[in-house]
Amino acid sequence: MNEESLVSVLREQVERLYRMDFYKNKLDQARIRPSDIRSMEDFRKVPFTHSPEFIEELLKEPSNCSLYSEDVTRVNFSPSGSQLYPVYQTNADIKRMNEVSARSFEAAGVKKSDLCAVTFGYHLFIAGIFYQTQLEYYGAKVIPLGPGESERARKIINHYRVSVLISNPTFAMKLAAADGIPSVRILFVGGEPFTSVDGYADRVRATFGRDLTIIDSYGMAACSPLARSCRYGTGLHVMDDFVFAEVIDPETGENVPYGEKGELVITHLYKEAAPLLRYRTGDLTIMERKECKCGRDITLPKGVFGRTDEMLKVKGVKFWPSQVGTILSTFPECSNRYRVVVSCRKGVDVLELVVEGSNAMRDRIDELSVRLKQETLIAFNTITVVPNLEQGPIMVDKRKGNQDISFI
Ligand SMILES: [Zn+2]
Repeated sequence: MNEESLVSVLREQVERLYRMDFYKNKLDQARIRPSDIRSMEDFRKVPFTHSPEFIEELLKEPSNCSLYSEDVTRVNFSPSGSQLYPVYQTNADIKRMNEVSARSFEAAGVKKSDLCAVTFGYHLFIAGIFYQTQLEYYGAKVIPLGPGESERARKIINHYRVSVLISNPTFAMKLAAADGIPSVRILFVGGEPFTSVDGYADRVRATFGRDLTIIDSYGMAACSPLARSCRYGTGLHVMDDFVFAEVIDPETGENVPYGEKGELVITHLYKEAAPLLRYRTGDLTIMERKECKCGRDITLPKGVFGRTDEMLKVKGVKFWPSQVGTILSTFPECSNRYRVVVSCRKGVDVLELVVEGSNAMRDRIDELSVRLKQETLIAFNTITVVPNLEQGPIMVDKRKGNQDISFI
């Protein structure tokens, strides 16, 4: 879609959203009328939607919720703290979701003759039924396996020669551990960080004992699908016929250029029920524009790799502590317990890392140090490996005179 068409699609969507009190109030406060949106620059003046206000509106009973409509046909739920908020879809929303997904199944190499098995949950939450509906629409054959019961799942997969497995990567490896479930040709993963974890795909292929196609997906309950990789392995392509994605500096709210790190912001192009408008996902990513052989060109090469709300400034550089966990997960010699400590000595920030790990991890400290510097752009002053850590992962910021401890 060229920029002119995109602006016109966005303007039409904002016109629809203006009929919902939730968005009308936000736009009125910002003194923006839908008809004012005539360029991308105009669209960037539209206020952001933040997760707490969006969920607060969704938690209202349907008759008082302006994001609900009489056309809603499917209601899933998603957890937020101790509450469950509804995820509304109309028939038109489901149809469009199926259409964009069909394009991604084709790009993944799924054929109509494939027998697929979905191991995500089907009760309440979105993932299981979401894949089931999309694959049925595509015309493939689908077994709603659901989660758990790995022995029974493995028997069904082997007996019926399931060729496409949809699962979180941990469960897929559990299923493949005994015999590599030889009939599986394509694995769709989701529900856990995958593309952002260096070496994870190699570990999964090693467990399966062959070079199977692995397709990663990224989405949120309020917006699925959002991005999915293809069989060419170039990263997660934004489904730009379904959503408009922006990357912003989380501090200033300004858009950052392609290739620069920032927070992913999402706008639904056509969604009718509970649509998102400049929704701040809180997820940290890098977006690039480069044509892939599958035809998509807007890509998150490393998926998402951290939360922006945990951002700190260390040595003048933006630092996301959870990036440390992502890097550590590629070192099997350490656990997921670690402690990051920032302090200030003589006006200079000092960044220290303590990791729970084995003796073998001590031999890899230099390698870890290089990786941390590459990925976070900050040099850690010390890295210590200890056999046991009581708590973790935690972040301790000692710079404000007290000890600000937060769980990562
Ligand atoms: Zn591609």
